[in-house]
Amino acid sequence: MTIALYPGSFDPVTNGHLDTAIRAARLFDTVVMAVFDRPNKNLLFSTAERVELLQEATRELPRIRVTTYNALTVHYARQIGAGVIVRGLRVASDFEHEFQMAQVNQTIDADIDVVVFMASRKYTFLSSTTVREVASLGGDVSGFVPPHIVQALKRKFAHKE
Ligand code: ADP
Repeated sequence: MTIALYPGSFDPVTNGHLDTAIRAARLFDTVVMAVFDRPNKNLLFSTAERVELLQEATRELPRIRVTTYNALTVHYARQIGAGVIVRGLRVASDFEHEFQMAQVNQTIDADIDVVVFMASRKYTFLSSTTVREVASLGGDVSGFVPPHIVQALKRKFAHKE
């Protein structure tokens, strides 16, 4: 059985992330979407909120599991028995970052392979940052994220006003 780890900030999870996870679940038996607990970024949603939103988004996808972690990604992959790390590539600018991370990961643990999915054409432009920005200005993000996340963003920005 092949377990694939799909790590990310998922702040919040978008339809682009979900598309990648669903495609990965066609290749691997289990895809573990793992919310990184301490990314070096300004986050809108707490770790607990990001996990909850992701769980709701994947509730009807039996091969996808949701967890959280705060270790090195390759160490966490080994801990859960994942032989593969899944990432997504949207534009050329993603490449450098993903390539560098894959090289570092390979240096730390050569047994774990990074498998990169090319973003589907309709999601190439989509990032969590874009979703947060559009939502913060009152724009419609219903084409970018599942309905419960549209609501969560509305609640978040209502409190911030
Ligand atoms: P990180 O902070 O680790 O980059 P993200 O949550 O932003 O986490 O993204 C996790 C992974 O998903 C990254 O490999 C990213 O390139 C990929 N990704 C993000 N948005 C999309 C999308 N629209 N389509 C495909 N892959 C995506």
